[in-house]
Amino acid sequence: MTDQEFAKWKLDHATLFRWGDTDLAMIDMWRSAFETRGYSAEELGDASLYLAQTAARTWRAEHLQFILDRVSGRRLARLQMQRDEEERRHEEEECQVCRGSGIANVPHPHNIHDGEWVYPWYECGVACYCFRGQRVLENNRATRDRAKEKAQRHPDILVPREVWTFAFYELRNPDWQRQVSEKKSKQKTEREAMAATRQQDKRLGPLAKLMKLIGRES
Ligand SMILES: [Zn+2]
Repeated sequence: MTDQEFAKWKLDHATLFRWGDTDLAMIDMWRSAFETRGYSAEELGDASLYLAQTAARTWRAEHLQFILDRVSGRRLARLQMQRDEEERRHEEEECQVCRGSGIANVPHPHNIHDGEWVYPWYECGVACYCFRGQRVLENNRATRDRAKEKAQRHPDILVPREVWTFAFYELRNPDWQRQVSEKKSKQKTEREAMAATRQQDKRLGPLAKLMKLIGRES
């Protein structure tokens, strides 16, 4: 905020509330508080107007406090709006790993033998490293904390299992990506074998006829 901007705002504020020259000198002393917080002339102008529109303040000190509260409050609200907007954007972008659920299905560690994910390819869910996954972790932590607290009074209360973070899981099974793609290619091979067999059926006709033929011949 330049000297000129501050001088203009000061005059505007004094005019708005019909303050005199002694008050102008006092407003000069407020400037340091505004500078510390990096307020702009625009933010101050908004605070003055808002103060004029809302309940009248009896004391000058109340004006100063009001302006500080108003500008900081608006900044906080703007920050919150930005955060909400960011969250909304994250929610719209669907994560490829968890498909937006926050839970990533990965090879179950019990089903990994010598670094290979073996049939029947059991999976387990871990919190995805995306935005939604972080939400899952936060909720899990909160639920567990509440349950633990209740369990102190009622020992029969079950504390839900801790959801693994992706980082924790990857430490135990760093090869999960290769395992998943190998499983996919095995399944693809199986699908191709099935499709080829169906083609064969189409070409050669149903087996029942063949069996009848064999029966007639023998
Ligand atoms: Zn995800």
